[in-house]
Order: sequence, then C-alpha cells, then structure tokens
Amino acid sequence: MVLDSESKKWLADHYGAGIKFDEPMSKHTSLQVGGPAEAYFVPGNIEALKSLINWAWQKGISYLIIGDGTNLLVKDSGVKGIVIALTKCLQAITKIDNEKEEVVVTAMAGVRMQALCRFALEHGLAGLNFALGIPGTVGGGIMMNAGTAEGWIENVLKTVTVLLPNGQIQEITRDRLKFSYRNLTLNMELNQEFQAHPVIIDGSFCLHPTDPVKLKAEAQKILRRRMQRQPIGYPSAGCFFKNPPNGKTAGQLIDLAGLKGKAIGGAEVSSKHANFFVNIGQATAADFLALMELVHDTVLTRFNIDLESEVKIVGA
Ligand SMILES: Cc1cc2nc3c(=O)[nH]c(=O)nc-3n(C[C@H](O)[C@H](O)[C@H](O)COP(=O)(O)OP(=O)(O)OC[C@H]3O[C@@H](n4cnc5c(N)ncnc54)[C@H](O)[C@@H]3O)c2cc1C
Repeated sequence: MVLDSESKKWLADHYGAGIKFDEPMSKHTSLQVGGPAEAYFVPGNIEALKSLINWAWQKGISYLIIGDGTNLLVKDSGVKGIVIALTKCLQAITKIDNEKEEVVVTAMAGVRMQALCRFALEHGLAGLNFALGIPGTVGGGIMMNAGTAEGWIENVLKTVTVLLPNGQIQEITRDRLKFSYRNLTLNMELNQEFQAHPVIIDGSFCLHPTDPVKLKAEAQKILRRRMQRQPIGYPSAGCFFKNPPNGKTAGQLIDLAGLKGKAIGGAEVSSKHANFFVNIGQATAADFLALMELVHDTVLTRFNIDLESEVKIVGA
C-alpha cells in the first residue's frame, strides 16, 4: 500500500523532522543510485523502531529494513512504503566468557561490521578476521551471510534476535537458522505474515581466545590483500554476482568474456576486479540494470553459466 496523506500526517506528527518523504535512496546506498523512498526513517532507539513497524504492519504499509545500503541496487522508480535504516540505534557490543574454550560476543544490528571485527581483534578473539573490510552493519551482514574465501558469517553465528511487527522479541537458535550462499532464512515457526518482515536486532557470535599478536598480523595480511584486489575510489556494492557453485568465479568468467571496462552510461565493469560494477559518475539504476543484463547474457552465451545477482535489487 502506498502512503496516503493521512498516513504521512501520522508519521510527521510522531517522528517530526526525523521522517523524510520522497528521500532519494542514492544518498543511502553505496552504489549511489536509486529513486525516492516514499518515507525514510532512521530510528534513534528501539522504541521508535518498534512503534513504527507495529503501526506500519497494522496499516498494511510495507517497510524495508536496511543497514548501510552496501548491497542494494534501488531502482530509479524508488521504494514504496517506508525505508527504515538501522544505522543510529542498536549500537552495543557485549562479551560473555564461559567455562568452555569460547567467548560469546553479541553485537546489535546497527554496529558496523568493522567495529565488531576491531572489538574481536582488541580482545584477542579469533573467528571474525574473514569479515575484515566488509562494509555495512552487523544486521546486513547476518541477513546476507556475508563472507569471503576465508569464512562466512554462518561459521561463527550462534543465535539471532528478531523483532516481530507485533512488538515481540524472539531469539532464534542456530538450529533454526538456514544459511545459504549470501542468504539467511529465519525459520521462526510463525505465520507467513511475520516471516515476511524479520527485523534483526542482534546476533551472537562464538569466538575463541587466541594469541592477539598473531591475530593482528593475520588481520593486516587480509586487509592488504583486499586493498590490492578491489577497486577503491569508485562507488560500488562489492561483488555484483554470486560465484557459481563450481569452477571459475563470476569475476573470472566476466573477465574471460572480455567485459572488463565495459560501460553503460555511468555504470562500468571495473578493470581491476571484473565482478565489481562501479559508478564512474552520474550513473542511474537503469545503467546498472542494463550492464547487469549485458554481462549476464554474455556469460550465458559464452559459457552456458547463468550468473545470479548477489546485490539485492529493490524498488517498485
Ligand atoms: C566495497 C565493498 C566490498 C564488499 N565486500 C564484500 C565481501 O567481501 N563479502 C560480502 O559478503 N559482501 C561484501 N560487500 C557487500 C555488503 O557490504 C555486505 O553484503 C554487507 O553485509 C551488507 O550490509 P549492509 O548493512 O550495508 O546491508 P544493506 O545493503 O543495507 O542490506 C542488505 C540486505 O539485508 C537486509 N537487512 C539489513 N539490515 C537488516 C536488519 N537489521 N534486519 C533485517 N534485514 C536487514 C536488507 O533488507 C537487505 O536485504 C561489499 C560491498 C562493498 C561496497
């Protein structure tokens, strides 16, 4: 349902200047493209988040929870309903030592993944170095099962806490978390209505005490490698396509297809890393979608491999 004037008034009355109407999503995504969100809100605390999703759910108004927008391609037509960015609230990290050889670190959804990695490094806790350099929030990282060749979130995630639209908070244990490549499905054993709108509010990670000096040396190596391999200086959303299950990576296939440097409008296949599509200036979402189609179809024709987008495409 789109926002009618009565709904807009309610939002303005309750959240004041904090609620923005027709807010360009290009300002809130790392690709720097995307049309307007009908309404955009950054809750300052969990109570504001709770009241907003409860109201939206009761009114049948759709909402999209985002973190830093580093894995999103928002269409030029924008997003219907409310975009809620968890970038200012849910910022705590806590650590519980237990008798076993493990330490449980709980990070709330709005914590930056890099802040969590630094916390682990500072406390000499192994398990999260793989995530060094992955931008975005913990909530986004959990939903995306973010990872690299060194590891994925699923290797360390123990539990997830979600907020339901009716205000209930539920912990979901490991056995009900269904991970796949860059995806997490929360098996909440609830009706479909609730399953469609999970809001992650925190995740607990199982880490292991280790030699902090060795851990930091490994961290530096990982970060150096990322800097060498990935294009910096241009807006992107990281890898655009998922790697196929076997054989060559998506980047290798795109490179072999001769597409490095290929551009449509302001969207370009990076010459440094063929699976990074970069905004070289004034790109639109339509440019990225056209480039994506061209790359997909070329790789399909040349290698009979059907690449699947890793970046989430959202919008009306
Ligand atoms: C330069 C660059 C390098 C990157 N490198 C990597 C990499 O090495 N590995 C990797 O896996 N990814 C990588 N990425 C992609 C991206 O950073 C990750 O997917 C990241 O985890 C997304 O976090 P985010 O907060 O930006 O999520 P967003 O992009 O805002 O959202 C991603 C998805 O999660 C959902 N979501 C976000 N927060 C919540 C929440 N609290 N509750 C429910 N749903 C939520 C959104 O609706 C959306 O579907 C890279 C991106 C860039 C720009």
